[in-house]
Amino acid sequence: MFVTPGSLCRTPSLSTDYLSLTQYDGCGPSGILTTNPYFGAGFGLVGVGTGMAALRKLSQYGLILLRRNYLISLEVPSSDKSYRWLLHWISNRAYKRTQHLSVHTKYHQSDTGRVFTYFDFVPSPGDHFFRQQGNWFKVERNREKTMGDITTGVPFETVSLTAVGQNKQLFIDILDEARAIALKEQEGRTVMYTPMGAEWRQLGYPKRKRPLHSVILDHGISEGIFKDINEFISSVKWYTDRGIPYRRGYLLHGPPGCGKSSYIVALAGELDYHICVMNLSERSLTDDRVSHLLTTAPEQSIILLEDIDAAFVSRDLSVENPAAYQGFGRLTLSGLLNALDGVASAEGRIVFMTTNYLNRLDSALIRPGRVDIKEKIDFASKHQIKTMFLRFYPEELESMAEQFADQLLAESQEISAAQLQGYFLMYKSDSKSALDNVQQLPKF
Ligand code: ADP
Repeated sequence: MFVTPGSLCRTPSLSTDYLSLTQYDGCGPSGILTTNPYFGAGFGLVGVGTGMAALRKLSQYGLILLRRNYLISLEVPSSDKSYRWLLHWISNRAYKRTQHLSVHTKYHQSDTGRVFTYFDFVPSPGDHFFRQQGNWFKVERNREKTMGDITTGVPFETVSLTAVGQNKQLFIDILDEARAIALKEQEGRTVMYTPMGAEWRQLGYPKRKRPLHSVILDHGISEGIFKDINEFISSVKWYTDRGIPYRRGYLLHGPPGCGKSSYIVALAGELDYHICVMNLSERSLTDDRVSHLLTTAPEQSIILLEDIDAAFVSRDLSVENPAAYQGFGRLTLSGLLNALDGVASAEGRIVFMTTNYLNRLDSALIRPGRVDIKEKIDFASKHQIKTMFLRFYPEELESMAEQFADQLLAESQEISAAQLQGYFLMYKSDSKSALDNVQQLPKF
């Protein structure tokens, strides 16, 4: 039996069943629900809650609609090349308005070779705003807490830019400007890259270009390589017409200290290329990693594989003494050959290899197609000794340089340019003493 809430209710008969009870006005369950203030308030609350939920849903749809039709956004992950450029560019716009900054220490090398350190402030993770060409931009810098580069431990980040409108050109303009500023800073400098995990990372600060003529090689060597490389760079059509992979390999071999690496660095500067240096004796290199790195090297760069013999000598040693070399060099010769064969890119891939021991190299590694030009960079010839002497003592006569070279070669035929450089530095402004003490040079 129901308890009736008000005096207006008629008492239902005891015999009346549930269905018949509902027919009594204001006294059945429906009547109770509408007249009972507690139930009324409950329904009111439910109504408000439902309304709020609907409003929230509506605002979510509204936001999605707004984002889809009236906002544009661009996400740049930290793995992308333009990430640093963009961050640096934003730092000049947004950082004046924000109180939350991160520091990025940078280096600058002056023309005298001195290195200066300065601090670049970039917006810290979070939201920031800036105005550019009359448009407001929201910058969101997000840092992943769980994901990062396993080799460097650097957390994975993204920068997102959001603006009102649908004009994508706004972002293209920003990226273009950011790149132009970054490249201007590198002008006249050579950037060196080194493998870091699965990608190439800039090594130190960009180096001042070394003039090609400052590396003194024997007659015709430098000119020959320079001519060949220029021909290669300008003959993309020739290669594509014939279906030949657009790449060129060079091998510089010879004793240490004779200018192999210096020449490649100077050549890259002359061509306005960067250098990606890989040391194949590094333990962490595997076939897959080398293959990936060679195909993803930055555009307009020379790949330099230094001391190419070292990777495989280590392997021989590891056979002799497996315990000492456990885990050493998982790169195999066939892996390297495959990686070299796969290297090609639209703008031409140039690979330089250096070795002090040509006879240690497998013939498959230096066959044409992998190595197209082999050049010996040997101990200093008479021509090189004379040229270096006159470069250090430009006020002296050629006859003195000739005398110096003859006397030196009579002492030893195996003098490296690095030895000569060190010797001249000792007698910086004293050519006479340099000549008088020439017999000491081979011991230098
Ligand atoms: P390599 O790669 O053959 O071992 P490097 O290029 O590393 O030799 O040279 C070592 C040093 O000697 C560098 O500082 C470089 O300036 C100097 N040097 C070597 N060869 C030459 C050269 N042919 N002309 C001018 N400097 C040279």
